[in-house]
Amino acid sequence: MKENNMPETSKCRICYNETDNKNYFIKEMHYGTCEEFEYIECGNCGCLQIKSYPRDPGKYYPSDYGAHNVANSDRPGKFIGWLRKKKLKHVLNEKKSLIGFFLNIVIKPGFEKKMLPADIKRDSSILDVGSGAGSLILNLRNKGFTDITGTDIFIDKDLIYDDCLRIYKKTLNEIEDTFDFIMLNHSFEHMPDQDVVLTNLRRLIKPGKTIMIRIPVKTDYIWNLYGINWGSIDAPRHFYLHTVKSMEIIAARNRFSVASVIFDSGIFQFYASEQIIRGIPLRSENSYYLNKKSTLFSRSEIKKFQRDANELNKRHQGDGACFYLKPL
Ligand SMILES: [Zn+2]
Repeated sequence: MKENNMPETSKCRICYNETDNKNYFIKEMHYGTCEEFEYIECGNCGCLQIKSYPRDPGKYYPSDYGAHNVANSDRPGKFIGWLRKKKLKHVLNEKKSLIGFFLNIVIKPGFEKKMLPADIKRDSSILDVGSGAGSLILNLRNKGFTDITGTDIFIDKDLIYDDCLRIYKKTLNEIEDTFDFIMLNHSFEHMPDQDVVLTNLRRLIKPGKTIMIRIPVKTDYIWNLYGINWGSIDAPRHFYLHTVKSMEIIAARNRFSVASVIFDSGIFQFYASEQIIRGIPLRSENSYYLNKKSTLFSRSEIKKFQRDANELNKRHQGDGACFYLKPL
């Protein structure tokens, strides 16, 4: 991560504003080291950003940090694979079928629904930036996608699963192919130089195709409610907590239009933040994150978190969203 020698600054790195920026000291509360990191909230675009990048960012990514974990690397058998192909083609509007219709009623489509605004096909070339060892894209391969590439600088080595799925230990600079669809699933906020990332994405996306950036979003509602106790800050791993405005600014500067924004926040925004207020790290034993039987929240409270998250998403005030970018 050579960008780490970027100078410390009080200027917003997204819109370059220097007026009315506020400073906050925010604690590491994922593991609960309570080490403090200085963040700046921009007075113009609202983006919350770390003031200086940690010298050794790898040290904040122990092997149990989310994206490294992998499940179900086995490929489905022939018959199941055939059914899944029908199901996927139906969901993607690539080929409607009665079987596909019923299968999607029996087993609700999952992540692939987020890909619909990109209008992709089963054999579209997909790049997942910051894929970790591939927990998400393995799942997509098992659902029937046939051309998936992952990239992550924090994995130990390249992981070539089969002809449908390969993951490289590479930076974006080192990737040369072009793709029909590029997605960043909660990885963009971890990347120091956001302009360099978008410059690379522009080079890697085919003309007219779509990039999906899925990130935590700093909305007025969640920031007013929780402030520095907001669970999605995840200091010091999240360098940028964008607002819709700051995403629009940086997208435009890199010649992208924001075609749409779909809010997809969940209960995490509430329980993680409520736990931080009580001094409980995300990875403590009684945290709801690790222990769904934790007595910190009643079942009715968890249900209310879900209802509130759904409501906030409708109002574009939940704390997470997918931004769909198109090259201009
Ligand atoms: Zn700004």
